[in-house]
Amino acid sequence: MSKSQARRLKQWDREYIWHPFTQMKDWAKTEPLIIDSADGIYLKDIDGNIYMDGVSSLWVNVHGHRQPDIDAALVKQIAKLSHSTLLGLSNTPAIELAKRLLDIAPKGLKKVFYSDNGSTAVEIAIKMAYQYWQNIGNLKKTCLVHLSNSYHGDTLGSVSVGGIDLFHKVYRKLIFKTIALKGHGWEALEALEELLKARGNNIAALVVEPLVQGAAGMLVWPEGAFKKMRDLTLKYNVFLIADEVATGFGRTGKMFACQHEGVTPDFLCLAKGMTGGYLPLAATLTTQKIYDGFLFDYKEQKTFFHGHTYTGNPLSCAAALANLEVFQRKHTLAKLGPKIKFLAKKLKMFYNLPFVAEVRQKGFMAGIELRGRLETLVGAEVCQRVRQYGVILRPLGNVIVLMPPLSISIEELDFLLMATYRAIEDVGA
Ligand SMILES: *Cc1c(COP(=O)(O)O)cnc(C)c1O
Repeated sequence: MSKSQARRLKQWDREYIWHPFTQMKDWAKTEPLIIDSADGIYLKDIDGNIYMDGVSSLWVNVHGHRQPDIDAALVKQIAKLSHSTLLGLSNTPAIELAKRLLDIAPKGLKKVFYSDNGSTAVEIAIKMAYQYWQNIGNLKKTCLVHLSNSYHGDTLGSVSVGGIDLFHKVYRKLIFKTIALKGHGWEALEALEELLKARGNNIAALVVEPLVQGAAGMLVWPEGAFKKMRDLTLKYNVFLIADEVATGFGRTGKMFACQHEGVTPDFLCLAKGMTGGYLPLAATLTTQKIYDGFLFDYKEQKTFFHGHTYTGNPLSCAAALANLEVFQRKHTLAKLGPKIKFLAKKLKMFYNLPFVAEVRQKGFMAGIELRGRLETLVGAEVCQRVRQYGVILRPLGNVIVLMPPLSISIEELDFLLMATYRAIEDVGA
């Protein structure tokens, strides 16, 4: 690309784009980094610089960019059909993918409802859980419960079950009332038991991010807590909604986080890694019991009145099918084991840095919490600095997130960790 072309793009970006989660006043003062192409785990900008994709393009990329099998599957699908609706019709890739997802999901999940992003996947689960109890005449079960510090997306329904004050405070009067459990881990579990004992009859569902609370800063649950939580919801007849938008598709070392503790939730919400990081697609998986709670004569008006225009998009579904095939063909999960161990070993060295407060890891999700002078801005500073070492990262406040594509090699992982280490050291100096 010529220098003048690159200059124009940078100018147009500042002039025309409003970036998500971004204070645009600050953005206008910086030079935008514009990605133009990619290969494997590397991104290339319009000036020709190459960067390692250290956070999988916001937690979505799985097998690398321009993965030949997924590319080919998309080309093949484009030659047949790019979009047709699931409202009143069906399509081939959507059907095949539903079958595949149910094959690999925790046992007992029987139905797939498609949408196109993580927020809607959660929102659909919330609406289904709520309406199920209404449909069967249990009219008092209307309340939703979630953890403090939970994050389930940015649409108003998923914001309602979110607990990160920074994202939610301003919308307080627009969102519906919920119950937030105090504390973390065993403490939250205790709070849940107390709550369910007292008010279980009023509670429709508990929404959680199993094992790792991503947006909260990679908070990792103590082992066994999720299973206990599941047992409590069963005991008190409350649905469990597992938001695996971030943890799904191998990120924690198993295909789904639920499988670490042998849990089958009533709803499993999937999105981010579903298409290998190619296209927007989400799914809410649920059980026969929930599904049956919507089977009535039409005139009773108990249908699930919900759907998105691009629901079950054939291109997205073809990418998702190819993504799962690559998992199998390349033994992605089996190869991940040694990389997770390597990551765990190397992460320990970060404690040598005085401004590292805590390092957290579950599988291929890691967070390095920084303390010290700038609090919320120090994370951004480190991520700006690490670009000089050829790495793209995106922090969560003062937590540096490492979540590379699962296809990264041990050598590349080592490079990523060393670059991050140096950047933190530089900023702390
Ligand atoms: C990212 C995320 C969401 C929201 O997904 P979007 O596709 O951004 O709407 C929901 N839940 C969790 C756990 C997430 O990490």
